Amino acid sequence: MIGIGVDIGGTFVKLYVMNDHGEIFRKEKLETNAAAGEKGFVAQIGDFINHIKAEFADQRVAVAVGAPGDVDHEKGILRYTPNLKFTRVKDWALAEQLEKYTSIRPYIANDATLAAWGVYEADLKRKGTNVLIVTLGTGIGGGLIINKELYQGSHGTAGEIGHMKIADIKTGPLCGCGAHGCLEAFVGTIGIKRRALQSAVDYPDSLLAKLLKQTSDFKVELVAQAAAQGCPQALQIWKDTGYYLGIGIANLALILDLDTVVLTGGVSGAAPYFRPALEQVLNAQQIKTPFTKLTLCISKNPDIGGVGAAMYAIYRTQQDARK
Ligand SMILES: [Zn+2]
Repeated sequence: MIGIGVDIGGTFVKLYVMNDHGEIFRKEKLETNAAAGEKGFVAQIGDFINHIKAEFADQRVAVAVGAPGDVDHEKGILRYTPNLKFTRVKDWALAEQLEKYTSIRPYIANDATLAAWGVYEADLKRKGTNVLIVTLGTGIGGGLIINKELYQGSHGTAGEIGHMKIADIKTGPLCGCGAHGCLEAFVGTIGIKRRALQSAVDYPDSLLAKLLKQTSDFKVELVAQAAAQGCPQALQIWKDTGYYLGIGIANLALILDLDTVVLTGGVSGAAPYFRPALEQVLNAQQIKTPFTKLTLCISKNPDIGGVGAAMYAIYRTQQDARK
């Protein structure tokens, strides 16, 4: 069987073609044409799918699409996707339109959810029964594997861990979503930037302050770079990041009794600086059992969104065929 994984981003769409042994046959990154709108997008993806269908005419082809935002996975509808340049349509019936174009009904899900499946299948090889995957980047995304199955919740929105509240919802820091006190407001780029800029004001002679002064374009990498050179202020920012992330993960471990937590995404590269503080929070919990056997690991697979979509397409098609 062939699985096509479509990973829709703000400017680009990534396409992955895989087989049921987890091998990647083809990877493509296409720029989405904002002017062509939804129709143009369906044609762009649909042509690729049809091409693969013709090439592997002797095999069954399954498709899954990961999209940012609020996705109805059962109906295959994108309810709301604020970051896509080529569409502002609410309740966009993407599955139906792609099916008309290709005669294949695709699975549609939230992109972080499918990336979580990618980590579970490709990196963990399905080891672990109840797994939390946290994507650390500009935003904080998440996905859950419960009883070895992808958990999407009642409406497809499960795993929005970035917007779990870990501080007062009136006085806590402002999150990109418009609310206050979200985990993302502490641990996402927005939170790290806020603390870094404050630190540069408080400690103008620090290495971090000097690096920040050289650029108007804040990058989390600068805080990692300063930490690598032993800057105490940068190290403190990572320590705080680990502390807040630890609170979020501890909350979820207490609720779900997880066996594995995987950190992924660009910011997870700074794990050497924030991991000790994170583990300290987990180890300091009063209810010990959910934490003593909890495995924490880092996934550095950059293809995980598209790979997760392709592997989920194959997995679901095989599951549905057994019903
Ligand atoms: Zn939020």
